[in-house]
Amino acid sequence: MQSEKDTKAELYSRYPLSSVLIYNGSTILHFLLGGIGIVLGYRSYTFGVLYLVLSLVEMYVVMPLTVCSNCVYYRAKDSLCVSGLNILSKKIAKEGNLKDFPGRAEGLFCANNLYLASLIVPLLAMIPALIVNFSVALLLIFLAVVGLLLFRFFIIFPMIACLHCSAKYNCPQAEAMGVRNR
Ligand code: SF4
Repeated sequence: MQSEKDTKAELYSRYPLSSVLIYNGSTILHFLLGGIGIVLGYRSYTFGVLYLVLSLVEMYVVMPLTVCSNCVYYRAKDSLCVSGLNILSKKIAKEGNLKDFPGRAEGLFCANNLYLASLIVPLLAMIPALIVNFSVALLLIFLAVVGLLLFRFFIIFPMIACLHCSAKYNCPQAEAMGVRNR
């Protein structure tokens, strides 16, 4: 008979490179397509470029400075988290406190909400643009970004990232995704 431990998902101290590539590839594609959609929808580079820069800064500067330094992957030797940001965080941030890690989901402007906003803002921006400045290209980009969002929430988080994460017992997102005890 299989023990409960055997039936639970393996926790990775180092994610496979394929997971890191899927995670970052879909993230960067989401931001890029979102930025292009805003540029097309409003026929102006300003807001699209602003969105792209802010979303990249949020993901690749704010997260490693404020969240990753409190994560178990920051301090585990030779570890590689699904985003790879533990490596970057070690270079730019001082070690934080494991107890502060759940704080990523506390407060209106917490890291989790900013991260969610960076994913959802381009969709919200494209809806009125589709009505006012409809084009097939804009519609295809909108659908692609919707697909990337669904892929993140239904495949990446529950099956690739959070399921195998060593931080999942301390991470509010793992709880929200229902993977803590899987
Ligand atoms: S459980 Fe998911 S959201 Fe939380 S640190 Fe791990 S991969 Fe990131």
